[in-house]
Amino acid sequence: MATIELKQVNKSYDNQVSAVEDFSLTIGEKEFLVLVGPSGCGKSTTLRMIAGLETITRGDLYIDGEAVTHRPAKERDIAMVFQNYALYPHMSAYENMVFGLKMKKVPREEIQRRVKEAAVILDLDDLLQRKPKELSGGQRQRVALGRAIVREPKAFLMDEPLSNLDAKLRVQMRTELSKLHQRLQTIFVYVTHDQVEAMTMADRIVIMKDGRIQQIGTPAEVYETPANVFVGGFIGSPPMNFMKGQVVREGDALQLICAGEKWQAAGSTATRLAESGLQQVMVGIRPENMQLAETAADNVTDSGHQRLPFQVEVVEYLGANMLVHGTVGDHRLVVSLNHRQGVKAGECRHLLVNMNQIHFFHPETELRL
Ligand code: ADP
Repeated sequence: MATIELKQVNKSYDNQVSAVEDFSLTIGEKEFLVLVGPSGCGKSTTLRMIAGLETITRGDLYIDGEAVTHRPAKERDIAMVFQNYALYPHMSAYENMVFGLKMKKVPREEIQRRVKEAAVILDLDDLLQRKPKELSGGQRQRVALGRAIVREPKAFLMDEPLSNLDAKLRVQMRTELSKLHQRLQTIFVYVTHDQVEAMTMADRIVIMKDGRIQQIGTPAEVYETPANVFVGGFIGSPPMNFMKGQVVREGDALQLICAGEKWQAAGSTATRLAESGLQQVMVGIRPENMQLAETAADNVTDSGHQRLPFQVEVVEYLGANMLVHGTVGDHRLVVSLNHRQGVKAGECRHLLVNMNQIHFFHPETELRL
């Protein structure tokens, strides 16, 4: 079983644009790894360096423990699936799938066995004789996947393979790719700018920004303990709310002044603030870690919740949940409610913030406390 290891990999284009810096990571056997981040953060460059489509400026790459840094793409035994499918328009789906194998002089019976297997996995049987223009976007994507599968590579590299599909098909193909991964039991390295794709499919996620890794972890790890403000804001939808807070010590007690209110910091919250020794912090609250107080009596300290006055501006009803946009003092917040509540734009209500689920970050380094 294959592993892929990147050691301090760097890429600068024309010795000017630094696209990837000090990228180190070992991708485990059978792992579904997703590289995610905003446009231009270096995801595709990283993937293309693994594929051998882009040279590595500095650092080392190992596949199965073997140094392949300077080896050409065709000797790396890796298959790449692109966003635009890159199918030959004049060839049928079948011909597209077998073209690479014929070039490699794979015996005919072996080619037929592999195509048959891939066609079953991807449900392509009836489409094999069609040309790309006679196929829908989703079908073309399946042919592109089929062409990768028949190569029986050590790893599949995918660059935004679902971006050209409509929203519904994307959701469907996400499930299909997860099933395909389980079935093939091979490394998948998948590039996307969409954090939902990353969260739903990945065993581990690598979050990148400006060519650098921000955090590596399972979907639960990066969601529950974001390493910095960027990750907190990037993972999760709608994004985490951020507010500046002031830490005030009164004797042994510790208070957080935030959005013009005094928050009671107790338990682990107080410990984290005390240990930081900071006077200013960045407070992160996920939209789903707040509720609307139902009655005036819904109280604060006994339930580990902080009560805040909330001016409701916009209510978005989404069926399964609702998003309430509004302000607490000068701060704009979004609250996600998972059940229907009578709330209207213009109302003045109270929020209950779950104090055990708030995040603290350093105000300058933006690192998690
Ligand atoms: P992403 O896939 O995250 O959108 P890329 O890896 O494509 O990002 O690009 C990372 C950075 O490298 C960007 O600043 C981009 O403009 C630059 N870049 C990408 N390809 C080239 C190239 N062939 N020549 C010069 N700069 C490039």
